[in-house]
Amino acid sequence: MVDLTAGPLTVASRSGAAPLPPAAGAGVRPVSLDPDPAAPPFEPHHAALRAQVRRWVDERVRPFAAEWERAREFPRSLYPEAGQAGLLGWKYGPELGGRGPDLLADVVVTEEMARCGSGGVAAGLGATKDLAPYYVARFGTDAQRDQWLRPAVSGAAVAALSITEPGVGSDVAGIRCRAERDGAGWVLSGEKTFCTNGSRADWLLVAARIGDEPGPRAISLFLVPASAPGFSASRIATLGWRTSQTGLLRLDGVAVPGDALLGEPGSGFVMIMKSFQWERLSLAVAAVSAAVYDLDLMRRRGWPVQGWQRLAEELAAARALTYEALTDFLAGREPLAAVSAAKWLACDLAVETGLARLTWASGLADASRRAVEVERAETALRDARLGPIGGGPREIMAELVARSLPGMGRSPGEASRSSRGTVSRG
Ligand SMILES: Cc1cc2nc3c(=O)[nH]c(=O)nc-3n(C[C@H](O)[C@H](O)[C@H](O)COP(=O)(O)OP(=O)(O)OC[C@H]3O[C@@H](n4cnc5c(N)ncnc54)[C@H](O)[C@@H]3O)c2cc1C
Repeated sequence: MVDLTAGPLTVASRSGAAPLPPAAGAGVRPVSLDPDPAAPPFEPHHAALRAQVRRWVDERVRPFAAEWERAREFPRSLYPEAGQAGLLGWKYGPELGGRGPDLLADVVVTEEMARCGSGGVAAGLGATKDLAPYYVARFGTDAQRDQWLRPAVSGAAVAALSITEPGVGSDVAGIRCRAERDGAGWVLSGEKTFCTNGSRADWLLVAARIGDEPGPRAISLFLVPASAPGFSASRIATLGWRTSQTGLLRLDGVAVPGDALLGEPGSGFVMIMKSFQWERLSLAVAAVSAAVYDLDLMRRRGWPVQGWQRLAEELAAARALTYEALTDFLAGREPLAAVSAAKWLACDLAVETGLARLTWASGLADASRRAVEVERAETALRDARLGPIGGGPREIMAELVARSLPGMGRSPGEASRSSRGTVSRG
């Protein structure tokens, strides 16, 4: 049971350090969604950072979120602004222009951005913060980090990661985009879709296949400037994340130099799989944070306890699971099943909470207040809907969790096959 009385409702504390609100009944231990911002997995200095990022979001994003949603874009100047505020560089040390490395600080930024009122803004900044540049940091050479990563950390360059193709989503091993050797360099040809930041990116990390071998072993990653001849991008309409310039990309014989290859030829699939863990954790923490924000808003504005108590309990569980997976990840383990379970549960709950918020807003008596709240709630619900799809859909997350259970793993024979189960986004 949750606390059925008034009081703050934000996020779950795993430490138990936060004072518990009064019990709802005899023998009932209420769930606290009120965080101690310095409680594990966070450290005391993260509390000040959280307050600072929350202030930035409250001043620089939230007041404009509805307007940007209607316009379906946010100003490009927000990238350098976020860079100057230090929001894009917590994963990297000062030698790369960052303020870390501090991955928990990065999580704080993700959680606070998730409360900004436009999932597309969080996604657009997040793609530069968490996707392609992080691949370069982890798998690139010093020269590649200087050329591609540093401008993304400062916000001078907008970056994008392009894996998905028309008809190739979960089945990453089925990528058709091709990279042909051309002297010392490469020539890329193919079509890509659903690329966050795709139609405004300055550079992109593109997955392409070298040679004719089917399956995952030929997949490689290439750093492609959007200015390269033969590259073109257009925007596609999406249900949610409306401001994040989701792109449909064409590569018509795009020539890139030899040092555009990230890692070794054929190492792309492994890099993608390793990187999915962070992407999924980021989606999970963002989903919990957005959902808790929704729930808190409704509760503070009079939604009866019967409406929110079960969601509060399930969100507390999702947050605990997410932080558990995060802690394992930061300890250097590869908690595939825990990350998958956290993303699955957190993202499903965010959709449910978004739907509850829309239902609640639609029933408000005051017509002008209702109009404002319904518009915001519609945005929240549309944006939440991406969670169970992006970075690997919920069905794949369920499969990964199931496969981790005793007796549910694939046989060696099955595992060697290039099927969706073995080579999909998992
Ligand atoms: C707004 C938005 C932004 C995105 N941004 C990016 C980005 O920046 N970069 C990028 O590369 N991609 C991006 N994506 C793509 C996203 O990662 C894919 O949509 C996702 O991986 C699912 O792929 P798909 O859409 O092709 O669906 P599919 O893989 O075709 O799946 C369709 C349906 O079939 C189900 N399904 C598929 N395989 C299985 C299976 N083995 N078992 C059971 N069910 C299965 C899925 O769960 C789903 O319900 C974005 C997508 C959206 C909508």
